[in-house]
Amino acid sequence: MESYIRIIKNIDHMQQEARQLLQTGKTIVLVPTMGYLHEGHLALMREGRKQGDALVISIFVNPTQFGPAEDFQAYPRDPDRDVSLAESVGVDIIFTPEAEVMYDKAYQTSVDLEMLPRYLCGPSRPSHFSGVATVVTKLLNIVKPHVAVFGEKDYQQLAIIRRMVHDLNFDVRVIGVPIVRESDGLAMSSRNTYLSEDERRSALSLYKALQRAQKSVAQGIRDAGQLVHSASEVLCSYPNTKIDYVSVCDPGTLENVNRVEGPTLMALAVWVGKTRLIDNTILTIEN
Ligand code: AMP
Repeated sequence: MESYIRIIKNIDHMQQEARQLLQTGKTIVLVPTMGYLHEGHLALMREGRKQGDALVISIFVNPTQFGPAEDFQAYPRDPDRDVSLAESVGVDIIFTPEAEVMYDKAYQTSVDLEMLPRYLCGPSRPSHFSGVATVVTKLLNIVKPHVAVFGEKDYQQLAIIRRMVHDLNFDVRVIGVPIVRESDGLAMSSRNTYLSEDERRSALSLYKALQRAQKSVAQGIRDAGQLVHSASEVLCSYPNTKIDYVSVCDPGTLENVNRVEGPTLMALAVWVGKTRLIDNTILTIEN
C-alpha cells in the first residue's frame, strides 16, 4: 500500500500546512506524544481520526519537561516503528521537530499555572508541568488544531491542559481518552520498556493497589487515610517498589480529600527499581 503520511520537522512548514488546511475548511486534530508509540497512543489517534479531517501527531521528546536527574537522554526512541504504527491508524502528518528548532538559543518564555502543578507529581518534578504547558502551547500555535487529544493516564497533565486552554482562551476542544492497559492491568507506558522481568511483575502493584481501593470503597470504606493505607500495603508487598505518593483527591482541584463522597481521584506514583511509574483511577460509590 502506498503511504501518504508526511513527516514535517520545520515549524514554518507545519504552520503553512495548517493554514492551508484551515483555508480549505478542514478540521485539524492534534495528538501530542513523545514517541515510542504503543496501544495507548494509538487509542488517542483512533479517537482523533474520528474527530476531524486532518490528523496530526507530534513526536517530540521535550527536554524542558525533564528534570536534570531524569531520563531525557535514555528516553526510548524508535522513529521508523513510530511511522509505521502512525500510518496503520491513518495519521496524515507527523510533526517531529528537533529541540533546537523548538527552543532557540535566546528562548525565554514559559507558561505556568498557579495551583494544579503543586499537587501529585508536582513536588517530585518541580519544573515538569511548566515544560508541559509551554510545549503544548507551542504545539497548539504551530499545528492550529480544532481538537487536541490527551490520555487520562497522565491525569494531572490533562487537568492542567484543560485549565490552561480555558484560562488562556485557546480555541481548541480538549478530549481525554481512558487509560489503555496490558492484559494483566498494567497501564501502557513507553517507560515500561525500562523494566526487567522481575520489575515488570512488581509494576503490576500499581493496578492492584487501585483495584484494592476501588473494592474497599465498594465495601463501604470512605475514609481517605484508610484507603491510602491499604493501597500502600499492596504496593509495598511487591519487591523493589518505593512509593512517591498515593493520593486520594478531588478530581477537579487535585486537593487531598478526607472522605470519598462522590467520584474521587486516586493517583499513584511509584518507583519500580529505577523506573518511576504513574497510574490513577476514579473511585466511585455504586448506588
Ligand atoms: P507520552 O508519549 O507518554 O507523552 O504520551 C502521549 C499521550 O499519550 C499523553 O496524552 C498520554 O496521556 C497518552 N498516553 C500514554 N499512555 C497511555 C495509556 N496507557 N492510555 C491512554 N493514554 C496514554
